[in-house]
Amino acid sequence: MTDVRQHAEEIHEQFSDHLDVTVDDVASRLDSLVNEYKVPMEEARRSVTSHYLDEAGLERDDIRTGGTSDVQVEDIETDEQWVNLTAKVVDLWEPRSDSVGQVGLLGDETGTIKFTKWAKSDLPELEEGTVYRLGNVVTDEYQGRYSVKLNRTTTVEELDTDIEVGDNATEIQGALVDIQSGSGLIKRCPKEDCTRVLQNGRCSEHGEQEGEFDLRIKGVVDDGMDVHEVIFNEEATENLTGIELEEAKQMAMDALDTTVVADEMREKTLGYYYRVSGPTMGRYVLANDVEQLSGPVDAEAALIKARSM
Ligand SMILES: [Zn+2]
Repeated sequence: MTDVRQHAEEIHEQFSDHLDVTVDDVASRLDSLVNEYKVPMEEARRSVTSHYLDEAGLERDDIRTGGTSDVQVEDIETDEQWVNLTAKVVDLWEPRSDSVGQVGLLGDETGTIKFTKWAKSDLPELEEGTVYRLGNVVTDEYQGRYSVKLNRTTTVEELDTDIEVGDNATEIQGALVDIQSGSGLIKRCPKEDCTRVLQNGRCSEHGEQEGEFDLRIKGVVDDGMDVHEVIFNEEATENLTGIELEEAKQMAMDALDTTVVADEMREKTLGYYYRVSGPTMGRYVLANDVEQLSGPVDAEAALIKARSM
């Protein structure tokens, strides 16, 4: 197969659902640009693609740009990837923007992921509790959290089956190597449904607030292969550090400084080994269970063990 033919087939496939055009049509356009006008192939492809985008009334984002592979929710960790997903609609909520037709949560055995269906996508309404095979959705990333977008090229096929939706649970084992800022004794916005952490007494949404004390650790666990960002809520932080909320408040009051709490927590935990398990939310693991591992802290042994897994 000639180079032109191969490129023509790839372009043709992107438009096969939108235009009544043959591979020969595409090939002749490409051929003319490349062989008559000596346009480099990449540029010729762009030009021919633009021509068909215009003809179909589509935006470049509406067509897929590479091969589409079948994935599961847990595999989605790249931005702007075109994938096929079989998943159940777990939840639907009210879209905040007119450009969004439906928004909610999809789930499969490996976990859940947010989805957005554009209003102009002309796709059928998805029903809560129903399993669909979704062809050609595109992944998106925002602040470390992934979602999928259903667009005009997405295919929706309702399946007569059920899926037991998983909770993205994961388990990691390694050394706590860092405790990040925003850890220790923190204050949260007291407004209903807002739990944002106050920065200098201010909520980014609600302005200056009295705030409610809470304990949290944003930690980094190194398993010898990778580092994982782990969030410990109040209970997990108490388990990890042995410091309870009332005690933390007293420490801060005595020192007239809340940062003493995080300092004390660092001292008690950094460099120690833990087994942490819980659901993942984007790049974070939410520590539901924390167990300090017995035995000496030996970085080299842990590294060898991690590599042999
Ligand atoms: Zn707030």
